[in-house]
Amino acid sequence: MHGNTPITGLKPKDYKTGIKPVWCPGCGDFSVLSAVTKALAHLALPHQNVAMISGIGCSSRLPAYTSVYGFHGVHGRALALASGLKAARPDLTVLVAGGDGDGFSIGGNHFLHACRRNMDMTYIVMDNEVYGMTKGQASPTTAPDWTQSKLTPHGPGVPQFIPAAIALVSGATFIARGFTGNPNGLTKLLVEAIEHPGFSFVQALSPCPTYRPEHKAWKKQVRPVEEEATSDPIIAAQRIQTDDGMSTGVLYQTTVPVWQPEQGISADTGQLEEVFFV
Ligand code: SF4
Repeated sequence: MHGNTPITGLKPKDYKTGIKPVWCPGCGDFSVLSAVTKALAHLALPHQNVAMISGIGCSSRLPAYTSVYGFHGVHGRALALASGLKAARPDLTVLVAGGDGDGFSIGGNHFLHACRRNMDMTYIVMDNEVYGMTKGQASPTTAPDWTQSKLTPHGPGVPQFIPAAIALVSGATFIARGFTGNPNGLTKLLVEAIEHPGFSFVQALSPCPTYRPEHKAWKKQVRPVEEEATSDPIIAAQRIQTDDGMSTGVLYQTTVPVWQPEQGISADTGQLEEVFFV
């Protein structure tokens, strides 16, 4: 988080637009919207200093419902778009939102490189283990034996992508998992993620009651992590690999130099135009 002079007195509702979300009743994404606006109010961030970037999918509608600057981009490119914005405007608090299909399949390549680049931004993935907007296909986080999609009636048959593990080996410096059934816990994680200097990744277990009604069971399965967050990647890897994916909290946090615009491209948009458009 850079260069934001807090504005006291802002409430979560001040970060919402008047647009009514079109999510299905009971969708976990409602809780993420609430947690995001509570986190912004807690941090008292001025609207004009925050940008919410997304790709495509049910959860990627989030920028329409938040009153900070927003950009609803193309499928899987939210992190690329956000990286460009952060390079040009390092003073902004950049939040990136999306789902498991958008972020780990179409945008999987960008996820790896955003983790290793360590730009100061927060990536919130609403993981419901399904493509909801296109009516229920298997995503990278769907279990291999899930047979409810007509496209994969025998199940996708391939091991699930483990987001926290991929983030760790790719170099993310803050990795957390939250649950939309615990909005206060999710808010706390988002505050910590936004305050973390560097790339912070928050996997929000976000049930899709329409296409994965069995996710009701998550309420009984989630639990807080038993140990304090570690900064040792080997310990973090062991914990993540031996976990069932239902423990919530900060899984890993370390501090390494944050990517600065002068390390790579020019932050001067005028110079960028000269390079790309002459
Ligand atoms: Fe939410 Fe699923 Fe409905 Fe999409 S399809 S809005 S993810 S409940």
